[in-house]
Amino acid sequence: MIEVLFYVTMELVRRVKNLFPKMYKKDIYHIPYGELKKKNIKCLVFDFDNTLVPSFQKDWNQKLEQLMEKLDKQNFIIIILSNNTKKRFLQFQKKFNIRIITLAVKPLPFRFKKICKEYHLKACEIAMIGDQMFTDVLGANKVGMYTILVDPLEKKDLRITSLNRKLEQWIKKKYHWKDGEYFEKM
Ligand SMILES: [Mg+2]
Repeated sequence: MIEVLFYVTMELVRRVKNLFPKMYKKDIYHIPYGELKKKNIKCLVFDFDNTLVPSFQKDWNQKLEQLMEKLDKQNFIIIILSNNTKKRFLQFQKKFNIRIITLAVKPLPFRFKKICKEYHLKACEIAMIGDQMFTDVLGANKVGMYTILVDPLEKKDLRITSLNRKLEQWIKKKYHWKDGEYFEKM
């Protein structure tokens, strides 16, 4: 009985292709941004908590600042798209001139679509980079963006994401994840 349930559940997961990213990397520093340029990606949309900065950290670190400056020089449009509230960004906004969209309600598609419309870009010219399959990857895949999943920076999560995370860990265990790709365990 358990085997049948397992089989049915795995079939469902396989069918929800939108949960799976186009690329998997350990963190944002391992992403081949030059390759993204070659794929005609013009805009990088980053999730914030646990993608750029650990969930409970209150400031940027220098490494992140340098990466953002480098990407800016490479002429990427950089946007932060977060489900968190404005309050989370009060200190951060002062340092950078990066567009920050809060209360994004990912995975719902409307903010993703709005970015396309506002910047006159096709969804395939935008890469969404985030640490969650059920919000960042699912939402961006649904509108046709290029999706990159990274490992969360910290195990400790906001309480609201803990259920997502449990499901996600369950799915992740069924696959081998290694730099750049993932494949199903036999
Ligand atoms: Mg996140």
